[in-house]
Amino acid sequence: AANLGLINLGAPATPADPARRSRAELEALALEGAALLKDAPAEDIARWAASTFGERFCVTSSMADAVVAHLFSRAAPGVDVVFLDTGLHFPETLKVRDIVARTMDVNVRSIRPRMTVGQQDGEFGPRLFARSPDECCFIRKVEPLERALSDYDSWATGLRRDESPTRANTPVVAFDQKKGKVKVNPIAAWTQSDVDTYIARWNVPVNELFKKGYGSIGCWPCTRRTKAGEDPRAGRWAMFEKTECGLHV
Ligand code: SF4
Repeated sequence: AANLGLINLGAPATPADPARRSRAELEALALEGAALLKDAPAEDIARWAASTFGERFCVTSSMADAVVAHLFSRAAPGVDVVFLDTGLHFPETLKVRDIVARTMDVNVRSIRPRMTVGQQDGEFGPRLFARSPDECCFIRKVEPLERALSDYDSWATGLRRDESPTRANTPVVAFDQKKGKVKVNPIAAWTQSDVDTYIARWNVPVNELFKKGYGSIGCWPCTRRTKAGEDPRAGRWAMFEKTECGLHV
C-alpha cells in the first residue's frame, strides 16, 4: 500500500526496457564510461558494465584463459559468457570452456557457425583457412559473433594493449560504430604479469597449450608455437599477413 501513490495508469508495466536504448544513448554511455573508468581497476570496470547494461550485457571469451570470465563471475554472477565454437578449436581450449561452465557462476553460451566444417568444405572446398582465412574467419567467427551480440547492447573482451602493436591503443570502454554497441575491455591496461598474478590468486583455469610453447591460441589450423622473443601473437595465421581474425576491427 505504501507504493500506491506510485501507480501510474497508462505507463508501461515494466520500466524503460534497456533493450530499447537508442544508439545515441549507448554512445553517450560509452563516452561517460570511458571518462569515468580510464584509470579504474578492472573490477570497477566490470561492475560498471554489469550494472549499466544488466541483462543486455555479455562477456566474450576465446578460452585461452578464463580471466575475464572469472572477473565477471565475481562482478556479475550468472553473466552470459559467449564462446565462438568454430569447430576447429584445440581440445585444450574446449577443456577450458567446460571447466568454466562447471566451476564459475556464469552462463556459457557456445555459439556455432551456420555451417559445420564439413558443409563449409563442401561449399568452398577443403582447407578454406589455408587459402582464404578472412573468409573462413568470417563464416566461423565474425558472423556468429554478430549473431550472438544481437542479444546485447554491450560486451566485454579480454583484449590487452601489451598483446601486440595492433592492440596498443585499446580503450577501456568505447562505442563500436560498426556494431552499434558498447565494447568494454576491463583488462586493457594489464600486462602479462598482471594476468599471471590474477590467475595465481584466483586459481583461474588456463589453456594447457601455453605450457607447450604457444603464445596465443586460436583455431588449430591457424596457430603455431612461438619462438623465444617472438611477439605472442606471431603464431597466429603465421603463413599470412594476418594478425587479427576480424572480431576486433
Ligand atoms: Fe578459420 Fe583459421 Fe579463422 Fe579459425 S582462425 S576461423 S580456422 S581462418
